[in-house]
Amino acid sequence: MRSLARAMTGMELPAVEKISDAQAEDPFQILIATILSARTQDATTHAASTRLFRRARTPRAMARLPEREIERLIYPVSFYRYKAGYVKACCEMLVSRFGGKVPSTMEELVTLPGVGRKTANLVLILGFKSRRNICVDTHVHRISNRLGWVKTARPEETEQALYRATERRWWPLLNLYLVTWGQNVCRPVYPRCGDCVLRADCPRIGVQRRTRA
Ligand code: SF4
Repeated sequence: MRSLARAMTGMELPAVEKISDAQAEDPFQILIATILSARTQDATTHAASTRLFRRARTPRAMARLPEREIERLIYPVSFYRYKAGYVKACCEMLVSRFGGKVPSTMEELVTLPGVGRKTANLVLILGFKSRRNICVDTHVHRISNRLGWVKTARPEETEQALYRATERRWWPLLNLYLVTWGQNVCRPVYPRCGDCVLRADCPRIGVQRRTRA
């Protein structure tokens, strides 16, 4: 993790991290940006979130937007019609059940439409400064398995396995480090193992094809 921290200097941050930095770790904007980010390129997520937040910055204001307008604002994120529905329903529930505020527990967060453990963990880490959560997305799942830290088939299993396999002090940083590494070096296909600071210690489990340095 220390090697990654040094090697990441100057690399582009993941979209939700950028939004979190820019918005003073506002849990609401982290929540909505993470819903939009699923299966979507980072640049697209960032642009769509910026357009949406320019129009509505609070759960109450966003709940009042017509679903078609949310669709238009977030297009072209993938599954934009479903996501617009989730965003609106999520904001309505934040208003009706949580007083217009994002709840701060996993149990409450996963009751919101469109929110699973990945989103909830990221909101807890970035929005509420939790040091007890690990957010596992596709990059964290893939790289943890390639490194041999875990041996799991699904991200949900990876989260639980990582709690056992890694030191607690790294938990809130695992997502930032491995997503950044996954977008730049340890890519899904043709990972750049020759350029990787972890290559001496990495067993490259499951890596079939990699680029040369
Ligand atoms: S050595 Fe290759 S497989 Fe291992 S972490 Fe680096 S890029 Fe990924």
